Amino acid sequence: MERIAWNQYFMAQSHLLALRSTCQRLMVGATIVRDKRMIAGGYNGSVSGSKHCIDEGCYVIDGHCVRTVHAEMNALLQCAKFGVPTEGAEIYVTHFPCLQCCKALIQAGIKTVYYASDYKNHPYAISLFAEAGVDTQQVALEEVVVDTHHRETRHLMKKVVDKLKQSGDQESQDLAVQTQNRYQLPDKEHI
Ligand SMILES: [Zn+2]
Ligand SMILES: [Zn+2]
Repeated sequence: MERIAWNQYFMAQSHLLALRSTCQRLMVGATIVRDKRMIAGGYNGSVSGSKHCIDEGCYVIDGHCVRTVHAEMNALLQCAKFGVPTEGAEIYVTHFPCLQCCKALIQAGIKTVYYASDYKNHPYAISLFAEAGVDTQQVALEEVVVDTHHRETRHLMKKVVDKLKQSGDQESQDLAVQTQNRYQLPDKEHI
């Protein structure tokens, strides 16, 4: 069984964090990583204890919601709050950082920015990252399925595949082979 790749693992974490966002305009998640360890995470939302956009609507000035602290900033501030160094760290974000976050990430010593989706990629942010020697790489999140009953699921699928193979029906047998290949089920027993 193949393990999930590191960059997919951290990017999946950022997507999970984005689900906690409290602003409907854009749901963003960010994970700061050092030496393949997650050291902080953030999503875009109001200041702790304040009203949420999802309850009160966004507070928009000049086309921007000013209520929220951005995901990248929240992740950096978590490090500041608990005294965790960010020098040389990497960040995984669901969207390309805005100009303000770009500057904060550079100042905090972040060396690589992995982002899943382009988002208004500001030319000044792109040139600032380049100037600071910060590497930016797009990493699209592949399909990640979290199945906490993984063993049982595979066992059940194997049983169904075996049953289909035993049938005299060609279509059922084809389905069995397709399923077996798709989920890389072994020919022999013991999953
Ligand atoms: Zn908002
Ligand atoms: Zn931002």
